[in-house]
Amino acid sequence: MRLTRYFLPVLRETPAEAQIASHRLMLRAGMIRQASAGIYSWLPMGLKVLRRLEDIVHEEQQRAGHIPMLMPTIQSADLWRESGRYDDYGQEMLRITDRHGRDMLFGPTNEELITDIFRSSIGSYKDLPLTLYHIQWKFRDEVRPRFGVMRGREFLMKDGYNFDLTKEAALHAYNRHLVTYLRTYERMGLQAIPMRADGGPIGGDYTHEFLVLAETGESEVFYDSAITDLKFGDRDIDYDSVAACQGVLDEFTARYARTDETHDAALFAEIPEARRKSARGIEVGQIFYFGTKYSEPLGAVVVDSEGARVPVHMGSHGIGVSRLVGALIEANHDDRGIIWPESVAPFKVGLVNLKQGDSAADAKCAEIYAGLQARGLDPLYDDREERAGAKFATMDLIGCPWRITVGPRGLKSGVVELTSRRSGESEEMSPEAALDRCAGIFQGL
Ligand code: ATP
Ligand code: MG
Repeated sequence: MRLTRYFLPVLRETPAEAQIASHRLMLRAGMIRQASAGIYSWLPMGLKVLRRLEDIVHEEQQRAGHIPMLMPTIQSADLWRESGRYDDYGQEMLRITDRHGRDMLFGPTNEELITDIFRSSIGSYKDLPLTLYHIQWKFRDEVRPRFGVMRGREFLMKDGYNFDLTKEAALHAYNRHLVTYLRTYERMGLQAIPMRADGGPIGGDYTHEFLVLAETGESEVFYDSAITDLKFGDRDIDYDSVAACQGVLDEFTARYARTDETHDAALFAEIPEARRKSARGIEVGQIFYFGTKYSEPLGAVVVDSEGARVPVHMGSHGIGVSRLVGALIEANHDDRGIIWPESVAPFKVGLVNLKQGDSAADAKCAEIYAGLQARGLDPLYDDREERAGAKFATMDLIGCPWRITVGPRGLKSGVVELTSRRSGESEEMSPEAALDRCAGIFQGL
């Protein structure tokens, strides 16, 4: 993309309403624009990041055999009355009446709707196990929407639902989701720690939240610092293997890691003092096993191998896709701006022409730009007639992980400069070498 043809409404001033870095930087970098409290428009560069995160989520869910679909945002209140949650959900639920006087609502989550789809389509144990998921906008009328997309009223969530014949099978689905989530967050360049959590309105005994440690996080967390040494890495895991998924869960939940809701001071005190940590965290996902909580009231039953009608065992599993954009920035920024992890950067390489209008610089930039595009490196070319300082400031703000700088002086000796946004280090090399280097960095991401 050429910057002169793009829509990147960068703000010079720090917006007064933004209290935390990610909110400030998303506004300043022209990624989002508030439409009303807790509701945002995603401007082009914000949308690029959001889509990239969605892609990673889809890939990791489908790798585990989970099936994508799409349910609507607006739901009928009737199903929620059947489950008993219409009244329980309280003021967070946005209730709507249509022209015929029917009660509708903007879905805060989808357990009822998916269970309805299941019960009207599946009747036999032979159709199990099944895990369906979608990535869809949710609405929760939060009392205090704040921190930009981190606590919005409208937000994008991946929510997945597993249907299994037995508790054991459903617990395998639970473990499998834990594995997919570990992979998903790591691919985004984030460490998200599974912590034992509280069931809340969705209910259930088995639940873990995934937390990214950050000072601005809204949750208070307590953990054994040894847990931060664990990496999932690029293990090749057989998602059908009960033992393999259980092994990962055991490994990642062996150490103490809990939110304040489930914190146990006595257990915590048993950890050697040097490893005992309390901190703040951002909840970027949560997994639940809740048994037959919805299948019983809603009549989601299957006939088992003995001919008996049994309610299915279910779980639900959510990833806060739009919140993750904020969480990524909280974890990756400095006082100049965002520093995107390579795997999620909206533009992988920034190209800065130090002297727009200089025929040699313009021609070389055009050549490098085409070369980056040909290698799939999605460049952002700053082709504005601006001072070098202003161009660098924009690149630093929007956080392309790598920058190639082209100027008449360097070109005389046949070199451009390649700069890492994270380390700030620059190296001179030929344009071809810079292209190859960038291609190597992003290979396989
Ligand atoms: P929270 O405790 O932060 O209110 P929750 O536990 O109510 O979240 P879940 O029902 O577990 O949320 O939803 C799954 C994920 O959706 C959460 O882990 C979080 O990442 C994201 N999420 C929930 N509420 C919001 C919100 N208001 N804005 C942005 N993301 C949200
Ligand atoms: Mg939660």
